[in-house]
Amino acid sequence: MGWFSKKKAEPVAAVAVQPPPPPVAAAPVPEEQRTGGPAATALSQRWDAMIADSRARLAAVLEEARVGSEPLIAAITTDLTPLVLPWNTVGPRVHAARDEVSDYWNKISDEMSACGELSHDMMRREGNKRDLATLELELLHERVYGGVMARAANRMREVALATDAAAHACNNCGANLDRVTPVSQSLNVECGHCKSMNTVNPGTALRMFAASGVMHLAAEEARDVGESMRRTETQIKQYRDAKDVPLALLIELEASTRKYWTTRLAVEARYNPDEAKYAPAKLDRYMKDAQKTLRRFWQWREYESQQAAPA
Ligand SMILES: [Zn+2]
Repeated sequence: MGWFSKKKAEPVAAVAVQPPPPPVAAAPVPEEQRTGGPAATALSQRWDAMIADSRARLAAVLEEARVGSEPLIAAITTDLTPLVLPWNTVGPRVHAARDEVSDYWNKISDEMSACGELSHDMMRREGNKRDLATLELELLHERVYGGVMARAANRMREVALATDAAAHACNNCGANLDRVTPVSQSLNVECGHCKSMNTVNPGTALRMFAASGVMHLAAEEARDVGESMRRTETQIKQYRDAKDVPLALLIELEASTRKYWTTRLAVEARYNPDEAKYAPAKLDRYMKDAQKTLRRFWQWREYESQQAAPA
């Protein structure tokens, strides 16, 4: 493919003793002179428009699914399955959108090569847009789906607090604890009647919330930093040569990874206090994995040894 397919057929001698040499492409523009003329600009803009179009169509699918989820969220009590099932049908749509962007790239990159106005660097920048665009499609899906699940999990928690607390009577006045006001992240509930504080042990409903709802609340709270972590990872992968990756990007990856896991674990510990004691060891393990990746970069190894060196 590429500009070699645009060559002109050369007249062949009637009696050829030897096969003619392969014809040369019609005056290809030398690499160093390709600085992106009007044809390159038009193709680049068309490529951007294709990406935007794929994203808009996926956004419409997700919005439809979100609207359809509202009555299901309202009906959630102790089980998130009624939401998980319809959202399973959205996964293949995200896949299709990703494939679509890849197909677009295959087509438009041929045209970009053929127009002869784009340098190798420019081609690579255009190609990088594909990976960024497919990442954004995934993040968009996770954001909408995650938002739905987090709201359902919150509802699950409210129902659980009411259900578990209603099974208890106030220690002070004996009234049922039916008006639950969670005053802290533990299960202290205020009596609606005499306002005294009661400690309620988690019942089945809260244990179910802890088992299947908490992770969605944790993911939601860590969403922004998680997205910035994933964008940084993708940016780092786009360098052809690992040694060219700016140290600042690696530092950013380390910081966002740490913040992401710290946030997730803190939310999990808040709703599941029994798990709190394991959080530091978990963070340690996740960060060791991140360090393993970072140490593949000499920039990071050098930075680490400087940090470790006595001042
Ligand atoms: Zn009371």
